[in-house]
Amino acid sequence: MKSKIQMTTPIVEMDGDEMTRILWKIIKERLISPYVNLKTEYYDLGLHERDRTGDQVTVDAATATKKLKVAVKCATITPNAQRMTEYNLKEMWKSPNATIRGVLDGTVFRSPIIISCIKPAVRSWNKPITIARHAYGDVYKNAELRTDEPGVAEILFTGVSGKQLKSPIAVMNSPGVIQGIHNLDASVRGFARSCFRYAADLKQDLWFSTKDTISKTYDGAFREIFDEIYLEFAEEFKRLGIEYFYTLIDDAVARVIRSSGGFVWACKNYDGDVMSDMVSTAFGSLSMMTSVLVSPEGAYEFEAAHGTVTRHYYRYLKGEEPTANPIATLFAWTGALKKRAELDALTDLYAFADALERACLETLESGVMTKDLASMAEGVDTKTVNTDGFISAILSRLEAILS
Ligand code: NAP
Ligand code: MG
Repeated sequence: MKSKIQMTTPIVEMDGDEMTRILWKIIKERLISPYVNLKTEYYDLGLHERDRTGDQVTVDAATATKKLKVAVKCATITPNAQRMTEYNLKEMWKSPNATIRGVLDGTVFRSPIIISCIKPAVRSWNKPITIARHAYGDVYKNAELRTDEPGVAEILFTGVSGKQLKSPIAVMNSPGVIQGIHNLDASVRGFARSCFRYAADLKQDLWFSTKDTISKTYDGAFREIFDEIYLEFAEEFKRLGIEYFYTLIDDAVARVIRSSGGFVWACKNYDGDVMSDMVSTAFGSLSMMTSVLVSPEGAYEFEAAHGTVTRHYYRYLKGEEPTANPIATLFAWTGALKKRAELDALTDLYAFADALERACLETLESGVMTKDLASMAEGVDTKTVNTDGFISAILSRLEAILS
């Protein structure tokens, strides 16, 4: 037997909950550990451990990611009232993803894994479209009023120096609604930097869109900041043969639909919320969507975009064989291994992660797939397998590629 691939720096490993926790173990034991002397710094973000540690484990994992630069995360439960009872929780802990994003100040990039037998709803899309959503401010941190009489609405800002800025919104001749939103230059800068960095990593064009013809100051500031940060990347973009492209949001939507894909689309918070659901649905399946959080300082946290697949987990607890699709979780692992390999210049580790991705894609292209995909596949004779059968099929492809 060939000796295992060695690593130099550990990856931050964040374990999670339910069905994905089961997939996690299978992926590591059957597809990675036999080939790689896996070095990880392990954090258990399973709900029991988050509750036991008062959620300190999540903060520790995020802090470790800041230091080690590469993390892989399993899906985790975001507690709600029902989970409070189910897990007998001390507190309704915050979403781990929000906590981690808070520590890393990162931007989330979502992209689909594309195979030829799953056709996107938009027939021209033959390369992935990655959506980058700004995750701070705007309507998600707003103040709203509903008035019960006519009156005057104004915006008032009081600076730390005491200086005041005031702007009229409207003379309201009937009761109505008012909304105040904000954003911070530092947050938009961090967002812009993460987007340029990630597009350069992928060697793909970066698109950015706002409505700065209407919102000349607010959206105008976003556009100016992107222009300013682009100067830091202009040379690298030129060398890579990629472009930064700004256009209005409505023009961007029209162009995205006519495009063949293969670019990163940076969106303001609300646009990203709406457009990421549209784009991921049009590409086909949640179980084939990956997600990576990139911090402005260049830390990367990889995960599947889907949740813990609770319904499958309850069936599994009743004794049914797992049937969940492990692809997005597996690609989170290969993404993290590839990034670690890049940062540490480990060519054999990179080649292994690449071979594992190829083994997955070849298995799917051959028609061997889990139920969620089999029901959508076109132009191929499908063979529906459960998780275990699917992993075995990937494993034998991987063996063939590696030998
Ligand atoms: P989900 O886990 O993404 O699953 C929703 C449905 O999508 C599943 O019931 C299943 O449909 C299908 N699906 C998703 N991933 C699949 C896979 N790998 N293989 C096969 N089918 C898959 O969303 P949810 O049920 O709304 O949420 C469950 C838990 O996950 C919640 O506690 C939530 O807080 C958490 N969550 C975590 C994250 C994260 O950690 N990033 C993200 C979202 C949700 P069928 O049942 O029809 O087969
Ligand atoms: Mg949404």
